[in-house]
Amino acid sequence: MKILIGMMSHEGDSFSPKKSELIPEHCVYVKGDEIPKRYRGTKSKIGAMIEVAEKYADEICYTEAAGFVSSGCVSKAAFDVISGGIIKGIKEFKPDLIFLALHGACILEHCPDGEGLLLKMVRKAAGEQCIICSSFDMHAYMTYDMISNLNVLTGYKTYPHIDAYERALEAAEYAIELYKNRQKKIYIASTRVPLIVNAEKGQTDRAPIGPIIDYSIELEKQKKVLSTVISVMQPWMNVEYAGCTATVCAYDPESAIKYSEELARRLWDIRFDSQVESTSIREAIDRARTIKGSGKPVLFIDSADSPGAGGTCDSSYVAKHLIEYGNDLKSIGSVVDKEVAAMAWELEDGASIECDLGFKEAPVFGSPFHFTGVVERHCTPAVTAGGSARTYTFGKRVVLRNGNTYIMVMENAGCGASPVLYTSAGYSLDEFDVVCVRSALQYREGYEGLYSEDILVDSPGASSSNLRSLPFDKIVWQAYPFNEDAVYVPHVKLSVR
Ligand SMILES: [Zn+2]
Repeated sequence: MKILIGMMSHEGDSFSPKKSELIPEHCVYVKGDEIPKRYRGTKSKIGAMIEVAEKYADEICYTEAAGFVSSGCVSKAAFDVISGGIIKGIKEFKPDLIFLALHGACILEHCPDGEGLLLKMVRKAAGEQCIICSSFDMHAYMTYDMISNLNVLTGYKTYPHIDAYERALEAAEYAIELYKNRQKKIYIASTRVPLIVNAEKGQTDRAPIGPIIDYSIELEKQKKVLSTVISVMQPWMNVEYAGCTATVCAYDPESAIKYSEELARRLWDIRFDSQVESTSIREAIDRARTIKGSGKPVLFIDSADSPGAGGTCDSSYVAKHLIEYGNDLKSIGSVVDKEVAAMAWELEDGASIECDLGFKEAPVFGSPFHFTGVVERHCTPAVTAGGSARTYTFGKRVVLRNGNTYIMVMENAGCGASPVLYTSAGYSLDEFDVVCVRSALQYREGYEGLYSEDILVDSPGASSSNLRSLPFDKIVWQAYPFNEDAVYVPHVKLSVR
């Protein structure tokens, strides 16, 4: 048995101007034998695939593995290198099985369906007999090019995501079963739902998504059903049929279609509970005033410009309003601004500084504001943080201050969900009345127990929870929440291999 392994993981945000290349600031990229060296034994998607391959295969071919930080898109040049390496591997190695670690929401510079394009190329090179499997993030945009070129797929059942390893292990094990039992056919039915769910509403331990996931797990206990994949598309994909999908892999077409449609109907039925309300910055500041003195800060959730969702983190909207309207509150936030960071880096602590701050990378969302204040503190340029102990390279990083408003200005984004951003600069969170966080949900783990209240602020940005504020102009069907009266007509696609 010969197994080929590859990875292309990217979560796109159509509204972000950031383009990803194969450079360390944008992605972790390894190839060939470096892949098992880096990922063997890790509780990651590709770690699971390596584990299964090493258990069953006579020969393994490692091709390309690129894990991108979220951004607007992956450049064509980067995709050509990754896909080229995988296709070359397939042609030379002639695998029986292919394990691909994909995300499902990859946007390419030249194609909005990165995984669909890659899977089409992979299937063409590998032939009809090859067994191809993958496991997808819950935020996937599942297309027919994806499902029709796979033999079997699985998908995360948790958000925040904690089961990437387990689901990839299942996908790889199912593929091995199929190889051993080649007369078995798998029917994949996928039903799309014209509903875009806010990221904040996607948690799987509560309604509205939790019960649907629970039901999908129940369905998997049926003999006829192999796997169920609920895809709550990451909400900032400006694509033709933006929405959720319910995909079912089953041993007969009737079960695949029936359960896919049933899950899709359940997704549609949550539409009136699929959006969150955000608070205006002035209301948020007023609220923080009333809680001031509790010993723990209020978190201002500025998820509209979040590095985890592809944001540029150059929005200075919240900082500006804290200076103008909330300077009686001691607050800290961060803004990416290469010019200002470089300029402040050259000044001594305590020096006066005047500059135009923010909105240089994504000017479509706002204009720089004129900042006057002092250089407060120079900070370490890199920190290691997060569940996967990722190293964030901020470059030059300096805290500026106007009155009680502290703004960490840095060259590069990252670390939006972890308090390490501030603690690594020597600050303790309880010094502040307000701490600004750039993350929709993932912050809850890192900040657990460290805040009194969290307020989702209505602010501009590529990953705004206010979906109607963004220029979705590629959608060709009536989708909720853009069309309150959208009518749901189930449209199921079936593939068999
Ligand atoms: Zn996700």
